[in-house]
Amino acid sequence: MAIPQIKEFPDPMPELDLVEAIPAEPDLGGAPRQLAILGGLPAFREPLHVGRPNIGNRADLQQRIDQMLDTRWLSNDGPYVREFEKRISDYIGVKHCLVTCNGTTALMLAMRGLDLQGEVILPSFTFVATAHALQWQQTKPVFCDVDPETHTLNPESVERLISPRTTGIIGVHLWGRTCDTAALEDIARRHKLRLLFDASHAFGCSHKGTLVGHFGDAEVFSFHATKFLNSFEGGAVVTDNDELAQKLRLMRNFGFTGYDTVQYLGMNAKMTEVCAAMGITSLESIDSFIAMNRRNHAAYATQLAGIPGLTLIPYDPSERGNYQYVVMEVDPTVCPLTRDELLRVLHADNVLARRYFFPGCHRMEPYRTLYPEAGANLPNTERLSDRILALPTGTAVGPREIERVAGVIRQAFAEATEVRQALARG
Ligand SMILES: *Cc1c(COP(=O)(O)O)cnc(C)c1O
Repeated sequence: MAIPQIKEFPDPMPELDLVEAIPAEPDLGGAPRQLAILGGLPAFREPLHVGRPNIGNRADLQQRIDQMLDTRWLSNDGPYVREFEKRISDYIGVKHCLVTCNGTTALMLAMRGLDLQGEVILPSFTFVATAHALQWQQTKPVFCDVDPETHTLNPESVERLISPRTTGIIGVHLWGRTCDTAALEDIARRHKLRLLFDASHAFGCSHKGTLVGHFGDAEVFSFHATKFLNSFEGGAVVTDNDELAQKLRLMRNFGFTGYDTVQYLGMNAKMTEVCAAMGITSLESIDSFIAMNRRNHAAYATQLAGIPGLTLIPYDPSERGNYQYVVMEVDPTVCPLTRDELLRVLHADNVLARRYFFPGCHRMEPYRTLYPEAGANLPNTERLSDRILALPTGTAVGPREIERVAGVIRQAFAEATEVRQALARG
């Protein structure tokens, strides 16, 4: 199946509801700018966020919402939910798509549908929802280390953690960079385990030329407002497995098979029509969102090039990516400031960079108390979660802002001694 290619900027560019460029500090008339942490004015008058929502064509969305109000079909497998599901499955070329009210319930449904019990192996270096969805159903999350380069599950470490109680593996395509799917599929096959992927970051991304959505027993997406493609809140399970899809469809709606018959333990995981309308509208602008993310990633790469100890996490140019995260690794043995010191400098200047996914699930409750020894097996996770910083991108940020963000970082490193003194003073 051929994967859709993204042009530099799609032509014609779909109309977007773009955020006005964030007003930067007024021109200082040639005087050198002072870092806000050292008493200067912030580099940006308003905060620059990681994951400020992308909004597609506002008029199209409003028209869909009007029609929804006219028909009074607000939820329960309505026309927009069906259309959104069809558009997603067509986009990926997968047989089944079930949309849900959020990504976490999509994970919970998929886990129960695949009968994950006992122990399940997953990375600790992920958003906490991946672990919570398991623990919520009394399944034990067994945290596995990630590869220091790819930031995804290390297949050899996965195999070492398999026990007689293991029923499945959950890979996370972190930052939209895919897992070693072939190695994980091989392990799952040999040990008769279920394989699920948390693809919350990876809608529209490919692995060896195949779009995400085709790997393992099922894959799960999140369309939360902060993800590059959003339906306000939302998620989806995609799979080629007919039986699983049928079961999940019933479980999503309390297990109802008719007006008065219930066949499974179910829950309410339905997506509303207004969310589906937003999802469809977002999907119509996906090429523009990706093109802007890619432009921003390239701008950061140019602006941050040559700073010793700073590495921008790259995307494989031979794959299709969504470029939704601009993530850098700050090596404290080379950089004059640590990641946490740099974070405080950036926040003072209104650049709200984020420490994704600090401190790692195993250092959060309830896992910290339940599995106090987990960290011993997770050296790469612990190192990465102390070094990684996600920078603002998306349709609210452009090259002008990025140049200024990079300027703050360079200046912070150049004035590291003064910065450290200021931080020590509080
Ligand atoms: C966003 C996210 C989720 C959960 O998605 P929600 O839609 O917010 O419930 C799960 N896993 C990862 C890795 C995520 O980034």
